Amino acid sequence: MDQLSTDFLGFDREHLWHPYSSMTSPGAPYLVESASGTRLRLQVDGRTTDVVDSMSSWWCAIHGYAVPALDAAARDQLASMSHVMFGGLTHGPAIELGRRLVDLAPGGLDKVFLADTGSVAVEVAMKMAWQASPGRTRMFTVRGGYHGDTFSPMSVCDPDGGMHTMYRGLVPEHVFADRPPAMGEPLDGWLASTTALFEQHADEIAAVIVEPLLQGAGGMHVYSPLAVQHLAHLAREHGALVIFDEIATGLWRTGTLWAADACDVVPDILCIGKALTGGYLTLAAVLTTGNVAARVDASEAGAMMHGPTFMANPLACSVASASLDLLATYDNHAQITAIAAALADGLAPARELSSVRDVRTLGAVGVVELHEAVDVPAVTRAAIDAGVWVRPFRNLVYTMPPYVASPDDLAAITSSIVGAVKQVHG
Ligand code: PMP
Repeated sequence: MDQLSTDFLGFDREHLWHPYSSMTSPGAPYLVESASGTRLRLQVDGRTTDVVDSMSSWWCAIHGYAVPALDAAARDQLASMSHVMFGGLTHGPAIELGRRLVDLAPGGLDKVFLADTGSVAVEVAMKMAWQASPGRTRMFTVRGGYHGDTFSPMSVCDPDGGMHTMYRGLVPEHVFADRPPAMGEPLDGWLASTTALFEQHADEIAAVIVEPLLQGAGGMHVYSPLAVQHLAHLAREHGALVIFDEIATGLWRTGTLWAADACDVVPDILCIGKALTGGYLTLAAVLTTGNVAARVDASEAGAMMHGPTFMANPLACSVASASLDLLATYDNHAQITAIAAALADGLAPARELSSVRDVRTLGAVGVVELHEAVDVPAVTRAAIDAGVWVRPFRNLVYTMPPYVASPDDLAAITSSIVGAVKQVHG
């Protein structure tokens, strides 16, 4: 079928669900012809248009697209095996990746479970905590989080954003403290109320689970490392585990290798995903300590009870190792600091717009928060016309650019975001 024919997109409209979309009243997605470097090649009004990707394909494609080292890793791996089961078998790509992850992880996290998506990694982390904590059935978290779309992760997502009322009876009910105050806001009230809430439920809590420093899809909310430390302290004081979901924050996105480093906390369980394969293939990982692993084994089941078909997929593991090797060749601190400065400078003019409530940045994350819900199709189109791909949500227009974005790319991203917001929302 000709990609330019109306039938081609017509089939998409009639038959393919897109994320969080309606089948009966679908949106109008842009067709991507190819992607290379920091650019997506789109079809817009029947014409081919190159745009800078400000989203890194939902925060994964940190090296950009068609990356020679990652292409080569995939091709080399295809030549030996693309997949074998992980039950009863093992392979070099898993061992190589495991070695790298253990080297990179915060101290003592040296047991690795290779899952296939971020949501599954969070499922696995929660199951680990439950199996390791007999008699404790609840999680403690904060409002405003996002941990994935399957039921266990959804149960610790923000209750409103995660639609807990709609799924009442289906979603397990966990304990939610208030969202931690934004970075720079006073913490005292939150510290006191969170302590009181934890103490009320202390005997039931298997683990605290949070996205340290930055709540991503729950609202791009940046909060203090002191709040993270407090949650970890409460957990440890009361015999609960600490799970950090670093699927979005990890691998330098927030300015350090792990957000855990900036918080000076080592979790008991760490979830990694998204950028792990540089956006090439779906893969995630859960790391924990020998102590937690032993507690899991001491549970009734006697082992970790999870084992997906595509666990440790060799193709994904090989590309992940190549991606981590490439990341190790960058001066990440300097690079993310430079991106942070460019985003802060470039987005600052948005503060003058009447539609804008707040502008904030953290590492390679830049956020413009509006007073009202974003007109997503209109802002997206205005940004495309200015040469940039953005995908806003709720009242947020944000960017998480590839780490290889040039100063010109970053200038295009920030000016198009400011321009699109101004044009559409004033
Ligand atoms: N945790 C966090 C913090 C995330 O941002 C996401 C994805 N946005 C997930 C979990 C779920 O990952 P996936 O979409 O790969 O299932």
